[in-house]
Amino acid sequence: MKIAVLVKQVPDPNAIRYDRRLGDLVPGTPQATNEYDLYAVEAALRLKEQVGEAEVVVASVGTARETLNRCLAMGADRAVAIEGPSLPGDSLVTATVLAAWLRREAPDLIWAGQETSDAGTGNVGPQVAALLDIPLVSNVVGWEYQDGILTLEREIEDGHQFQQVRPPALLCALSALDEPRLPTLRGIMEARRKPSERLAPADLGLSDDDLAPVVSWGGLFVEEEAAAGVVLQDVDPDQAVEQLIAFLQERRLI
Ligand SMILES: Cc1cc2nc3c(=O)[nH]c(=O)nc-3n(C[C@H](O)[C@H](O)[C@H](O)COP(=O)(O)OP(=O)(O)OC[C@H]3O[C@@H](n4cnc5c(N)ncnc54)[C@H](O)[C@@H]3O)c2cc1C
Repeated sequence: MKIAVLVKQVPDPNAIRYDRRLGDLVPGTPQATNEYDLYAVEAALRLKEQVGEAEVVVASVGTARETLNRCLAMGADRAVAIEGPSLPGDSLVTATVLAAWLRREAPDLIWAGQETSDAGTGNVGPQVAALLDIPLVSNVVGWEYQDGILTLEREIEDGHQFQQVRPPALLCALSALDEPRLPTLRGIMEARRKPSERLAPADLGLSDDDLAPVVSWGGLFVEEEAAAGVVLQDVDPDQAVEQLIAFLQERRLI
């Protein structure tokens, strides 16, 4: 069985600093692996451990060396980086590139994250599935594999739903799946010897036209800081409650 996992390197959500002058993140903002993608890698590794004969291949569009190394150190067998001057484009460009690579690899199963913590469109998984014309199961929080059939637990607004699918299929992971393992020292050493491929879109038969974005990005804005608010000090508790209620009512918050 071949399992592909789509992973994206994103600005570290715990270290993001915004530069108002640039209208963008401070250059050199630390990078991290998109959280949901680590859950997807963990699911792929557990499936490999269950079935025995399997290969886990991780792929990323854009610069993602640390992310791919981390996945290899977790236990993935092979990494593929797809880079090019016109990447990233919009999410459909990313999906087009990934779909071209996946057509070449023909995996039995594809795991992706539900969405990223930076652009966060949640488009790429569904777009890849549509381009490959394979089933998509989103919001996956649990799975079981038996006799060639995957039983998937999905989180939905009011509860959980179970679906069955026979691979090939694309599954989008949420963080209620098994906790991603930390790379061990041995895993980090082994990662250095694992195959790592670097491709350009042209290697996948893609032309500049295929990489032309349809959606263009505007500037990045952050909300103005909230007003200072009102502090009630040295007030009798009953009065404080009345004042608080009046304050909230004035603003039509209750
Ligand atoms: C410098 C820069 C310029 C950009 N300009 C534009 C622009 O002009 N217009 C525009 O629309 N967008 C633009 N983007 C956004 C960029 O195209 C998206 O970040 C990208 O397409 C993925 O979309 P997403 O982050 O919303 O992924 P989502 O759809 O939220 O991701 C879902 C899942 O898909 C997989 N995935 C997503 N991205 C990748 C990837 N790169 N490699 C492998 N797997 C992936 C992961 O498993 C992820 O969890 C720009 C981004 C950058 C960094």
